[in-house]
Amino acid sequence: MHGTSSASIYYGAIVNPISLTSYSASPRCLLAVNAAGNIDWVVDDVEPHELQETLAAKGYVDVDVVALKDGEFLIPGFIDTHTHAPQVPNMGTGGQYQLLDWLKYVTFPMESKFSNLEFARKTYESVVRRVIDSGTTTCCYYGTLHLEATKILADVVYKYGQRAFVGKCNMNRESPPDYIEPSSDASITDTLEIISHITSLSKPPTRSSTSSAHEPLVQPVLTPRFAISCTDDLLSALGTLAASNSNLRIQTHISENTSEVAYTRELFPAATSYAGVYDMFGLLRNNTILAHAVHLAEDEVDLIKARDAGISHCPTSNFNLSSGIAPVGAYLDKGIKIGLGTDVSGGFSLSILSAIQHASVAAKVCSIQARTGSSAETGSPTGFANNPLPIPALLYLATAGGAAVCALEKQVGTFAEGKAFDALLVNVRKDASNPGIWGFNHGDAEVAQEDQKELLDSWLERFLFCGDDRNIERVYVQGKLVGGHSFHH
Ligand SMILES: [Zn+2]
Repeated sequence: MHGTSSASIYYGAIVNPISLTSYSASPRCLLAVNAAGNIDWVVDDVEPHELQETLAAKGYVDVDVVALKDGEFLIPGFIDTHTHAPQVPNMGTGGQYQLLDWLKYVTFPMESKFSNLEFARKTYESVVRRVIDSGTTTCCYYGTLHLEATKILADVVYKYGQRAFVGKCNMNRESPPDYIEPSSDASITDTLEIISHITSLSKPPTRSSTSSAHEPLVQPVLTPRFAISCTDDLLSALGTLAASNSNLRIQTHISENTSEVAYTRELFPAATSYAGVYDMFGLLRNNTILAHAVHLAEDEVDLIKARDAGISHCPTSNFNLSSGIAPVGAYLDKGIKIGLGTDVSGGFSLSILSAIQHASVAAKVCSIQARTGSSAETGSPTGFANNPLPIPALLYLATAGGAAVCALEKQVGTFAEGKAFDALLVNVRKDASNPGIWGFNHGDAEVAQEDQKELLDSWLERFLFCGDDRNIERVYVQGKLVGGHSFHH
C-alpha cells in the first residue's frame, strides 16, 4: 500500500493550529505525505535516535527523509478568502478614496482593461505567481466580468498548481457604460460557461480511497459582485443556479462601507437588511463567503449564523479605504466562521501576513476603544469581543478558519491524517536575509531541549508579525512543491 518511493517524509519543527485558543508546536515532528499528496500520519515527538524505528513501525524502510534545519518549521498554507486578481496592478494606489468613489475612479477603469486577453494573460501569470510565493495555498479569486479573461485566470491558477476558487463577476447595473454586462440573461449564460470551463480543467477524481473524498484543486464560485451591481432578476437567477448545485460556493461583498449599506437598502426596499437581500434570493448558505461585514446589524449577524455562512475579514482593506473595523471578536463569540482576506487592491498587500498583522491591530483598536470610550462595553473576560486576538486565533483565522469559510475544512487548514499536504516551509534563519526577523542564529543557538518549544513559539510570532516572502522557503499544495523562495533560487 505504501509507495515508499513516492512518499515524502518530513522531520522537524511543525506548528499546527488546533482551535482559536491553541496550536501545537512540536520541535521534532514526523509527518508522512503519500503519493496522492495527502497526509498519511503525523507523530508528534520523535527523538533523532527513534527516527528509523518509528519509520519502520509505519512500514517505511530506506525512505528519504526531508530533515528541516534549525530555524525552519512547517505550518499549514495560508488561505486567502477574498481577493481580486485584476486589481493587483492598482495595489498601493487609490487609498484617498472610500469604496464607491474608489470603484468608480480606480477599480472599474482597471478591470475594464481585461477585455484585452493578451493583457489579461500577462497580468494573471504575474499575479498568481506572486500570490503563491506569498504563501497562499488556497485563494478565493474574483476575476472581472469578462468570460474569456476569467477562463485565462482559471487556466493560470490550474497550471501553477494552486488550490483556488475562481469567479467571474456578475454585474448588470450601477456600473460604467463600458464595464457592465448587457443583461441578466447574458450574465447567466457566461456564468454557466465559466463553471463548465473550470469544472473541465480537473481530471475526474481517481477511485483510490484517499482522494475520492477530495474536491478538485480549482473550482468555480458564483460571484455576484455585490447587491448594488445586480438587478433583482439577476440575483434571482443566480439563486436558482445555486439551488441546483449545493456544492457550488458563492462569494460576494457585504456591509463594507456606510454609504454602500444605505444605497443597498434604497435599491432593495423589500429586503429586511443587506444580509436579507442575499437571503431573499437564496444566496446565503453554508458555503457563502461574505467579505468585510463591517457594519452589520444584530439581526444580520444572527441571520448569517443561522445560515452558517462565513465571513472574510479584510482588515488591511477596511483600514485603507477608511471603511471601519469589523467586530470579528463578537462574531467569533457567536460561533460564526471567520477567515482572512487580503482584498487587493482595497488592501495594499498580497500577503495573508499583512492581514494577520492588521487583524491584530484592528482587534486591539476595538479593545482600546471599549476601554476608553464612553460606552460601558468592555472586553469580555472570557470571549473575543473587544479583546486583542491572541496568536493561536490569528494563526487559526489564516488557516483552519479560512478552510471552514471555504467549506474545505475536511480537506485543508491543519495537518491531520487524510487531509491534503498544503504547507509552508518557513525559514527564520539569517540566510533568509530578512532584517526584520531576530530568528535562529541571531541569538543563542545552544538551546536546552525543554526550551525548544518556547523558541518555536517565538519564531512563529516573529514570522507572523515581521515575516515576508523571503521567509517562505517552500510552498506545497497537495504535496507538490509549487512556489516559495527556494523554488526560484
Ligand atoms: Zn473585494
